[in-house]
Amino acid sequence: MALIVQKYGGTSVGSPDRIKNVARKVAKFHAQGHQIVVVVSAMSGETNRLIALAKELTPAPDPRELDVVVSTGEQVTIGLLAMALHAEGIPAKSYTGAQVKILTDDAHTKARILSINDAAIRSDLSEGKVVIVAGFQGVDTEGNITTLGRGGSDTSGVALAAALKADECQIYTDVDGVYTTDPRIVPEARKLDTITFEEMLEMASLGSKVLQIRSVEFAGKYKVKLRVLSSFKEECQGTLITIEESKSMEQPIISGIAFNRDEAKITVQSVPDQPGIAYQILGPVADANIDIDMIIQNSGHNGLTDFSFTVGRSDLDKTINVLDSVKAVINAKGIESDKSLCKVSIVGVGMRSHPGVAAKMFRTLSEEGINIRMISTSEIKISVVIEEKYLELAVRVLHKAFGLGGAG
Ligand code: ASP
Ligand code: MG
Repeated sequence: MALIVQKYGGTSVGSPDRIKNVARKVAKFHAQGHQIVVVVSAMSGETNRLIALAKELTPAPDPRELDVVVSTGEQVTIGLLAMALHAEGIPAKSYTGAQVKILTDDAHTKARILSINDAAIRSDLSEGKVVIVAGFQGVDTEGNITTLGRGGSDTSGVALAAALKADECQIYTDVDGVYTTDPRIVPEARKLDTITFEEMLEMASLGSKVLQIRSVEFAGKYKVKLRVLSSFKEECQGTLITIEESKSMEQPIISGIAFNRDEAKITVQSVPDQPGIAYQILGPVADANIDIDMIIQNSGHNGLTDFSFTVGRSDLDKTINVLDSVKAVINAKGIESDKSLCKVSIVGVGMRSHPGVAAKMFRTLSEEGINIRMISTSEIKISVVIEEKYLELAVRVLHKAFGLGGAG
């Protein structure tokens, strides 16, 4: 007998029929004698609908009240799933985040979980009940409803698994695991049987949207055994996210290719090449809560240099506004921006022990005439910024060059 936390995403609970399908799956595990805690998202599209409703009333809803509204989506699905399980003859009981209680800080719309009281859940489980918990939501010390950010039910699932010391946390979704890259772009993309936490973290932060990045961080920190699998395909083992690199098998050099279309590059032209310039440019950008990704400062000429960095496209206008006010102070000649870019990254723990990976990546891109605009690297990833029109070509040729489509 195992204690399993299962999280079902919005598409898996998107209609009464699909909720029945989830109930049947849960019933099967229950019949095998496992203790099951189910975490659900809102029905697909529901969170967007609730946000849109709020925005019809005011363009910038009060965050506390927005949480009151958007948290209702998950309250609906926990009750419906409990009813569907009852119809299967399974004892089941639903809990909102506040009822559990999932205690968070008070950062509305992006709260972090501080602690989880597992007493009620444990007592229900010991009575043979299936426990259903609303994902995405919690409560702060004052009793205000909070939410964990878009995609936050993944984090709810992992956090519950950590608190309950579950044997496994299963994230059921509409894909059957983590792929070497997006199969919509590369049909030969292959499902990975395992991927390490580090790799998964990079993949998630670089644009692969299978799991909320915070849930991966959480799972790594608390050593939760995490598996991503499909709620529609039976008998599929999905992808296991592992702590250890597999030693028994020959590690592939690259595990996957991630990409992100949401890149904009800004160049602050001809600023004095002197101490403090990076801080003068990026300090105000950071103060405005804008995330900066890659940064390049070119070597100077005649005491002047160009300073470039990338931000998310939706932050471009805001960033330019911030820079317009510092431009005069730092004596910049001008500010240039480019929205037509994307980022493509290769990720793999295997590159630690294999030199020449970067060279192979750059050669592959050059053979297709793709110009690299920026490069950044870490121990286990190499990212390039290129023109967006080359995104699909770049992903395809890299996937092939690193042998990701092949068997094994
Ligand atoms: N329903 C929330 C969202 O759409 C949380 C989740 O699905 O994970 O972001
Ligand atoms: Mg999700």
